[in-house]
Amino acid sequence: MRINENYGNLKENYLFSDIARKVNEYKASHPDADVIRLGIGDVTLPLCKSVVDAMVKATLEMGKKETFRGYGDEQGYSFLQEAIADYYKKRGVALDISEIFISDGAKSDLGNMLDLFSTDNTALIPDPVYPVYVDTNILAGRKIAFLNANEENGFLPLPDENTKGDIVYICSPNNPTGAVYDREGLKKWVDWANACGAVILFDAAYEAFISDDSLPHSIYEIEGARTCAVEVCSLSKTAGFTGTRCGYTVVPEALIRGGKPLRKMWLRRQTTKFNGVPYIVQRGAEAVFTDAGQREIKENIAYYKENARIIADALGRAGIAFSGGVHSPYIWLKCPGGMTSWEYFDLLLNKANVVGTPGAGFGKNGEGYLRLTAFGDRGRIKEAVERIIKLK
Ligand code: PLP
Repeated sequence: MRINENYGNLKENYLFSDIARKVNEYKASHPDADVIRLGIGDVTLPLCKSVVDAMVKATLEMGKKETFRGYGDEQGYSFLQEAIADYYKKRGVALDISEIFISDGAKSDLGNMLDLFSTDNTALIPDPVYPVYVDTNILAGRKIAFLNANEENGFLPLPDENTKGDIVYICSPNNPTGAVYDREGLKKWVDWANACGAVILFDAAYEAFISDDSLPHSIYEIEGARTCAVEVCSLSKTAGFTGTRCGYTVVPEALIRGGKPLRKMWLRRQTTKFNGVPYIVQRGAEAVFTDAGQREIKENIAYYKENARIIADALGRAGIAFSGGVHSPYIWLKCPGGMTSWEYFDLLLNKANVVGTPGAGFGKNGEGYLRLTAFGDRGRIKEAVERIIKLK
């Protein structure tokens, strides 16, 4: 037998293990140092009350014969699909519930969606980028072309007459840069994809952080997107579901490639390889979309965004250039004095006891940048930024 040799083509993911190693070494030699981590991409606030109440109620239902549930539909319960369809409707996007697939998170769907496409396709991936897009395509042995996201294009690359690819990834608001596409930018991608027959995988994991309603939360707010785009969403950062696990993916009926509706293919893929998200979790997710749930998650998002504002304000005072942090929990700063990502990382760790994520770990265009996240505790963030600006 032969194994999937493509595993050998993956680069070891040194980024987070290198960070952990450096932090551990530093702590071993400075046991009293108070190290603050602004590198984590995980939330820190607990699930909101509406979600917890709904999950407790659902748990009790599972313990009674009359209300117990076994296997559910692979694509999710209709109560949750309907709640999500209503959420889209508020933004003027009409979806049929058969187009909404409940998942255990965006990461799985981003990888699994590739089952629908030939390995002969080329994936077009922005750089810097959320590393999952790259690695899932390497595993499939697909060719990858990179799109440069840099200061010149505001970290928002656009297609031109030379842009070629079959599966294009767009993440807006972006991890790691925090940049957000406006309607005109997304329209250019939609028109390009419809013209050449490519499929856009639109990652909207951070849509709930957008505070300016003139910016699109969903690609389906753009005319023409239903015939070229799949949208992948997550409750991880929106509602603190990183450990609870729930997301949803939209595959419109009108998205047809090779004469086949991708919605039908995805349904077949999910019913073959996936057995659905737990009932208890889906009830918790449903509560996110109630009025009370929306109020509560918005309070948590506002907390993180205020953290981001505090970081941005301090960087501004210190004259450190940065972007992001407004419609995103990520702040993408330019390392001062022309330092490389790792040089600045080492300086912050050693002299300020603050940990960021070196931008170079997200792709070649990330060199010279560092990502800070706003998911931490307010007091610790204030302390960290004071230390960063003192260092300047
Ligand atoms: N997409 C992006 C851009 C992310 O940053 C992340 C998580 O950090 C995910 C998807 C994964 O989300 P989930 O927790 O739903 O798998």
